[in-house]
Amino acid sequence: MNAACTYLSHLLRPDSRAWRPLLGVYYLTYACDFRCPYCSDGSGTPYYRLRSPVLSAERVLALFGIIRRHCDYLVITGGEPLQHPEYAEILHRLPARRFRGVILTTNGYHLDQALPAVARSVTELVVSLQTMDSTKADLEYGHPGAHQRILANLERAASHPGRKYQIIISSVATPENLADLRGVCQFAGSCGFRLAVCPQLVGVKAHHALENNPDYRGFFNFLIAAKQQGASIQGTVDYLEYLRDLKKFRCRPFTMLVVAPTGEVFYPCLELGHFAGNLLAEPNLHRIRQMGCQRFGSQPDCGTQCHSACALGFARILAKPLSILHEGCLRARTSIMPGGHLSIMQRATGKVAPTRQHP
Ligand code: SF4
Ligand code: SF4
Repeated sequence: MNAACTYLSHLLRPDSRAWRPLLGVYYLTYACDFRCPYCSDGSGTPYYRLRSPVLSAERVLALFGIIRRHCDYLVITGGEPLQHPEYAEILHRLPARRFRGVILTTNGYHLDQALPAVARSVTELVVSLQTMDSTKADLEYGHPGAHQRILANLERAASHPGRKYQIIISSVATPENLADLRGVCQFAGSCGFRLAVCPQLVGVKAHHALENNPDYRGFFNFLIAAKQQGASIQGTVDYLEYLRDLKKFRCRPFTMLVVAPTGEVFYPCLELGHFAGNLLAEPNLHRIRQMGCQRFGSQPDCGTQCHSACALGFARILAKPLSILHEGCLRARTSIMPGGHLSIMQRATGKVAPTRQHP
C-alpha cells in the first residue's frame, strides 16, 4: 500500500486492528558521545544512558527489508546513528531496499566521514543545532570545538557533489535557548536549509518552564509568520499552533512503527516503552499489533503530552486533512536562498549579513 492509501486508511478506518505505518523509525544505536541536557526518551532517560546491543550490518539490512514491506519511508536515528560501527556499509547498501525516502538524524559531528555513504542513500539529512553560540553549544554537548566542527560539516554536506538529500536543521526549544533560536532560524534560511523546531520534552511532557512562557509562544508566532511569508519551516501551520499552545491532541500511534536497535517493536509507541515482538522473529506487523494489544491493551487515550514531530504531526494531518493542502500552497511559495558566494561559516558567524528571508 502506498503512502496516500495508507493515509486514507487511517483517515477512514481509525479503529482498524491492522498496523499500517506511514513511517518506520529505527534506532540504529543509542550510543552518543554528546551529553545534551535536553536528551530524553519517553521515561526521561537520556538515550546515551540506555544500554542495548547493536545488530551487525547484515542483520540491520535484513530488518530494513522487513520494515520496507510495511513502510515507504524510513527514519534512521539514535543516539547518534553514525556511531554504529558499520553505519557506512548499512548506508551504502540501503538503496537496494528501495525506500521512497530515507531520513537520517545526526548531531553532525562525524558527518564529514559519512558523506559519501549519506549522499548515496539519504533523502533528508537532519542535523541538530540549538544555538549559533559556539561556546554555549560546546558546553551543552560536553565537547570543546564540536559546534564549529558541525558547522564545517554542514558546509561540506551542502556542497557535496551529487547530493540528493535536502538538509534540515532540527532545534529543540528549551527554556535556556529561546533567545538563540531566531539566530538558528536566520542561519537555516540563509543557507537554504529547512528548519524544524520542537519543544524540549522531559519524558513525555513539554518542559514545565515552556508552558505559558511568553518567549516560547512568541518564538512560535515568529516561526508561523516566517512560514506564511515563504520561509522553509517544517510542519503545517496547524501543527505549529499546537506546538505553540502545547494543546492536547488525539494521538494516532499506529501511524508509526518504532523499532529498537535489536529489532524489538515498541508498542504502541517509543514513549510508553512496551515491546510487542521482534520483527526479525515475527515479520508480520499486524500480528505484532495483536500480540501487543493482548498484553498491553489497545490504543491508549493519553493526556496533554508528546508534542513531537511524528506523534503530533501525524495526529494533526489526520484530524485536519485540509492542512495538507494549505501546506502544499505554502511550500509552493517557499523561497530557497541561493547559495551565493557566502560560506556557511560566514553566515554562522554573522560576519556577512545574509539576504533577507525571514522577517
Ligand atoms: S546528540 Fe542527540 S542523542 Fe546525543 S546527547 Fe544530544 S540529544 Fe542525546
Ligand atoms: S501521546 Fe501518543 S506517543 Fe505519546 S504516549 Fe500516548 S500514544 Fe504514545
